[in-house]
Amino acid sequence: MKIIESVQEMQAYALACKKQGKSVGFVPTMGYLHEGHEALMKQARKENDLVVISIFVNPLQFGANEDYDDYPRDERRDIQVCRKNQMDVVFLPKVGDMYASSQTIALHVEKRTNVLCGRTRVGHFNGVVTVLAKLFNITLPDYVYFGIKDAQQVAVVDSLVKDLNYPISIVPVPTKREADGLAKSSRNVYLSNQEREEAAQLYQALQFGRTLVKDGQTKPAIIVSEVKNFIRQHTNGQIEYVELLNYPSLHTTEEIDQQVILALAVTFTKARLIDNIIFDENGMIQNLIL
Ligand code: AMP
Repeated sequence: MKIIESVQEMQAYALACKKQGKSVGFVPTMGYLHEGHEALMKQARKENDLVVISIFVNPLQFGANEDYDDYPRDERRDIQVCRKNQMDVVFLPKVGDMYASSQTIALHVEKRTNVLCGRTRVGHFNGVVTVLAKLFNITLPDYVYFGIKDAQQVAVVDSLVKDLNYPISIVPVPTKREADGLAKSSRNVYLSNQEREEAAQLYQALQFGRTLVKDGQTKPAIIVSEVKNFIRQHTNGQIEYVELLNYPSLHTTEEIDQQVILALAVTFTKARLIDNIIFDENGMIQNLIL
């Protein structure tokens, strides 16, 4: 397994592999790797000749009051996890190399960001697409693997690839969960024991919402209100949002008549957790349509 820190070296290596006709799979991450990330790695490993994983906590996608400095990091352990999953290259760029000069060009996401996390995390998705555009140009992937856990990110990156004509296929990977349903996340380490127990109820809340649709409810407003009540009854977390939207357009709808996302963000003392499920108008979970 190669460990590459230099942007230039990474790009030269990817280019050489492409010239040999190898397919390149790419898994972008911010590290502190867990089984959710490993699900992406495993799928990329199966489907490509060369797999590159990047570990880069991107300052551009954190707001001034967010947890950039406190974001959990453990490079040594991450490298072991990459080795175990037979990654070919771990790309570990430094902030100063990625953003060597002040940027003259900034990418701006026009749609799909005035809802869910985009509403409160102003500028977050501009930072995400900017770093991904750079990483795509550095690692030259054919396939890029993203977790449906961050479904708004998948929707925005789908637009990035289509709008800017990247010759890349986005591969959405289902959310990996703990035994009690809590979505695996690097931020779960910041939950107290009691909060950790309560956090499992978030997935139950989403499933409860889906059951309402299965039972014939078609009005998003009613489902959202019921899911909020469920969260308030079962946790002490602060609800930032519960939303039900068409997916991947992320348009609001009065009536569920196509693929939709039911998503939530709930804040506990030191951890802001997000989760979602995507289902069709009958409440059934199908393969994701982008
Ligand atoms: P992050 O390191 O948080 O930026 O995540 C890197 C990638 O891993 C993103 O595409 C995430 O959606 C994905 N990911 C994070 N948690 C999970 C999970 N529990 N299941 C599946 N994918 C995940």
